[in-house]
Amino acid sequence: MKLEESTPPVQFMHQVHGDSVCVVNQKSDVDPMCDALITKTHGLALAVMSADCIPLLLSSQDMVAAVHVGRAGLMNKIAIKVIQAMRNLGALAIHAQLGPSICGTCYEVPQSLADEFLRLYPNAFALTRDATPSLNLPRALIDDLLAHGVTYEASTICTLENADYFSYRRHGITGRNAGVIWL
Ligand SMILES: [Zn+2]
Repeated sequence: MKLEESTPPVQFMHQVHGDSVCVVNQKSDVDPMCDALITKTHGLALAVMSADCIPLLLSSQDMVAAVHVGRAGLMNKIAIKVIQAMRNLGALAIHAQLGPSICGTCYEVPQSLADEFLRLYPNAFALTRDATPSLNLPRALIDDLLAHGVTYEASTICTLENADYFSYRRHGITGRNAGVIWL
């Protein structure tokens, strides 16, 4: 099934693991270069593509956002920037949905990288099945959401372990799972 057969027109973004937030009110011909989209426009769907990163969808009464949150995005606090941008646009209660991503047991990283990340997100500490360093990215994101008054629900599906989902670490190619939200 093609995506747009079941949704309104979809705005994608050219994701670069950066911290730019784009507010959009109509579908553009060129995908904006950013890792977060916000809209208050009814009937405009926002999409985030991911493999092992976290597809984060945010909603409030009159706006929605789609955010690409990987390790880089957590380090540069993109989710918090989006929450602040939504509040500046008038959002009150914000609810988050975290889509499937790689789990803490699977996301193995070098010790130096783990050390750097855990300075910011101590609760993200994790170990692989072989007891080597890894990181629990959803835990880090949830800590940020809770610290900023955002309620959430989180998928417990691991993209590496579940063959129904696309995993960069399993396939070596990026960007196949889509998270889509609209008003
Ligand atoms: Zn896993």
